[in-house]
Amino acid sequence: MFISFEGVDGSGKSTQAKLLAQKLIDMGYDVVLTREPGGSIGAEEIRALVLEGDPDRWSAETELLLFTAARRDHLEKTIRPALKAGKIVICDRFADSTRVYQGTTRGDLLARVNALHETMIGVEPDMTILVDIDPKLGLSRAKSRQTVEERFEDFGLEMQIKMRAAFLDLAQAETRFELIDGAQEIDQVFENIIDTVLPRLEN
Ligand code: C5P
Repeated sequence: MFISFEGVDGSGKSTQAKLLAQKLIDMGYDVVLTREPGGSIGAEEIRALVLEGDPDRWSAETELLLFTAARRDHLEKTIRPALKAGKIVICDRFADSTRVYQGTTRGDLLARVNALHETMIGVEPDMTILVDIDPKLGLSRAKSRQTVEERFEDFGLEMQIKMRAAFLDLAQAETRFELIDGAQEIDQVFENIIDTVLPRLEN
């Protein structure tokens, strides 16, 4: 079972992905918690190349190629082997982030994002949990975090609104999405996620 978490910066998806992984491990499942960009040695190196240093170093197109290269390595080295071994893979961001960030908001590259995905990746999660949040709340949460990747979180409200809309569009188009309200308290959000995921695992 391949589960991805998606959402705008500050949505709380990473916290929820960790909580879900721990819960499933406690229940006796074999779980691999991973993330994008990153999740394998090579992909983590590419992550550092893209997210650190001069923000204008890469064009939107080059950034798309780098993220796709990272995903390909992640798929080969981490995701596929784990799925083959019957493990549950929980991935903090996957291709939907590229559809939204490189495809829709940072660049207008969706056709190329989809073409690259089809030829080089070709895999979708069984379930995608979209942690949805009001853009104002997401932005204030994201800005309270100080990370080396700060430039990516400095999108401003307008961009945050656009990203949320792009995620919601994807969620409407694909049945693998489960929409979760991220504005609630962490425990409540987690309970909703558990209620969504467990029945699917028991099937
Ligand atoms: O999810 P996480 O906070 O680790 O993501 C790191 C940064 O990379 C985020 O701020 C996000 O905006 C950015 N990102 C991106 N394109 C992607 C995935 C993540 O610009 N496809």
